[in-house]
Amino acid sequence: MPMTTPELLSPAGNLEKLKFAVAYGADAVYCSLKDFGMRASSDNFTPEELSDGIAFARGKGVKVYLTLNIMPSEAMIQELPAVLDSIKDSIPDAFIISDPGVMETVLRAFPDAVIHLSTQASVVNAEGCRFWHKNGVKRIVLARELTLKDIKNIRQNLPDDLELEAFVHGAMCISYSGRCLLSHYFTGRNANEGRCAQPCRWKYYVKEEKRPDDVITAEEFSEGTYIFSSRDTCMLGHLDDLLDAGIDSLKIEGRIKSAYYTACVTNAYRMALNDRLAGKPFDGAYIEEVEGVSHREYHTGFYYDNTGENANTVTMPGYICEKPFYCSVMSYDEVTQLAQCRQRNKMVKGSAAQLLTPGKTGKDIFIDKIFDADMNEIESAPHPKMVFYIKVPGAKAGDIIRGK
Ligand code: SF4
Repeated sequence: MPMTTPELLSPAGNLEKLKFAVAYGADAVYCSLKDFGMRASSDNFTPEELSDGIAFARGKGVKVYLTLNIMPSEAMIQELPAVLDSIKDSIPDAFIISDPGVMETVLRAFPDAVIHLSTQASVVNAEGCRFWHKNGVKRIVLARELTLKDIKNIRQNLPDDLELEAFVHGAMCISYSGRCLLSHYFTGRNANEGRCAQPCRWKYYVKEEKRPDDVITAEEFSEGTYIFSSRDTCMLGHLDDLLDAGIDSLKIEGRIKSAYYTACVTNAYRMALNDRLAGKPFDGAYIEEVEGVSHREYHTGFYYDNTGENANTVTMPGYICEKPFYCSVMSYDEVTQLAQCRQRNKMVKGSAAQLLTPGKTGKDIFIDKIFDADMNEIESAPHPKMVFYIKVPGAKAGDIIRGK
């Protein structure tokens, strides 16, 4: 089994999430500008924020990839040259594209640009990979519908300098690598332009044509029917299989998820990868870490079951909520052991909590006292973004304090 370390690639839905991803162990992050990036509902980046994010990440040896992977209409693609011009002073380490017209436009603006082919292009065989490589693509983000056996076969038929990336964690959807018309039809929001309203997650009823007023619940669970709602992928406990298949970059989905999600999931995969490199066995505590972020029921996607064997949809309804992200640590005083914190969710005196530090699993702590910015003792920290102090021995700037 090869002992190479793959790239850990994390989502950066905004500048803050980019910084958390970097602090918690990403080798690279991917992000978008306001348009063209397949996640229109994320905060995304202004050109100035992108420039700041690239400078910050590069300062820590981390790469930044810009997603331009929508399928733009003729009208939309006309706007792309101006968008590219707005980032010409700070060019990302790679551009993730799925449309050949976008690729042409990027290469016209930046002839030396590194191009990664998005999963939206649905590449599922070595012939397809070689086609794109011959046309200047350095990395293929494989379709999410491939098994590990498929990936291994593809890898064996590729030149060594063509990289393979695969989604290993996060939301999946019932359509083929995201190509879907449901949302556009139901809501006018085009999924292929990054505006999916996720109608596959809605609750559906059955009607008989002669009884239009009779709405019947098709009961998969007592809460309703979610037969089109895919489970989330989690391959954290299967890194050896991913690497044995020849994947160079492990991608975490979730640009719309919270900064806490970004930090916690990146941290869990980073610890597991570092352990693997050190020859240590997999630590089951890392699974508990990713169980504590917002997610649907986890599964191994299509890596072990092909799409004809398992639709990979949920077997229980709903979203599993994440542990509350109480605050982030801004600074720490070794003498007083007081951490200066910025509030994210209301924290009350007397709470059991956990301290999350990069490279470690959550450590139990107890919030026995809270002080406001003037060091008056208070019962809780209720206000968004308020600055307050708590005693947390050994905390560091950048740590996260979360609920238990
Ligand atoms: S509606 Fe559902 S299946 Fe279709 S693109 Fe959106 S998330 Fe995917």
